Amino acid sequence: MVSEVEAMYAETRAETGLTSMSPAVRAALAKVERHRLVPPAQASAAYRNHPLPIGGGQTISQPYIVALSTDLLNPRNDHVVLEVGTGSGYQAAVLAEVVKQVYSIEVIESLGRTAAARLDELGYRNVEVKIGDGYQGWPERAPFDGILVTAAAPQVPPALVEQLKTGGRMVIPVGSSDAIQYLQVLTKRADGGYDEKRVLPVRFVPLVPGK
Ligand code: SAH
Repeated sequence: MVSEVEAMYAETRAETGLTSMSPAVRAALAKVERHRLVPPAQASAAYRNHPLPIGGGQTISQPYIVALSTDLLNPRNDHVVLEVGTGSGYQAAVLAEVVKQVYSIEVIESLGRTAAARLDELGYRNVEVKIGDGYQGWPERAPFDGILVTAAAPQVPPALVEQLKTGGRMVIPVGSSDAIQYLQVLTKRADGGYDEKRVLPVRFVPLVPGK
């Protein structure tokens, strides 16, 4: 799986500006046991570079997108990162291998509880999962060095921009579910605004309005 992901980095380097996977992300991808985070019925397919259904009508991204999104955050081992859309917990585990602390929000309670339990079983002590609406972010844990949104938003949620540190990055698929979405990288400016860069056309499940 790691070599397939490497090959996709090479194919997309003109768009992404990244010639290869960072060593930290490569190590994380090689280490995280994807088969223990996806539903048991999907375990045999866990190491293909494909999206997978995880229940609740939700799908998790192919490992290439997980790796690329992580690299686009420019993660460091002293970073505190917020993930929106815990899903299976796989992206959270990859993040947990490369940063200090991960906070992750999931709106579907059963998915969030299952992911938290599996992450705990795998020994991740630096991931905290909460059930809630990711549009609001997690103000009690802010500010964040990085924010990774793993469901497509029609617009960038203002609360998330607010909770990002100056110089921090947000990686987010922007666009509606029936139109082209782009994976975007936002960098927060000192004046509170952000600079944005479109990276790739992508297809994510939509971010749903929370309760
Ligand atoms: N990062 C996940 C995959 C996420 S799929 C993984 O690695 O497995 C997108 C997830 O976002 C789904 O689980 C979906 O339920 C969740 N989601 C959708 N809208 C949300 C919202 N408003 N707040 C938090 N999570 C949301």
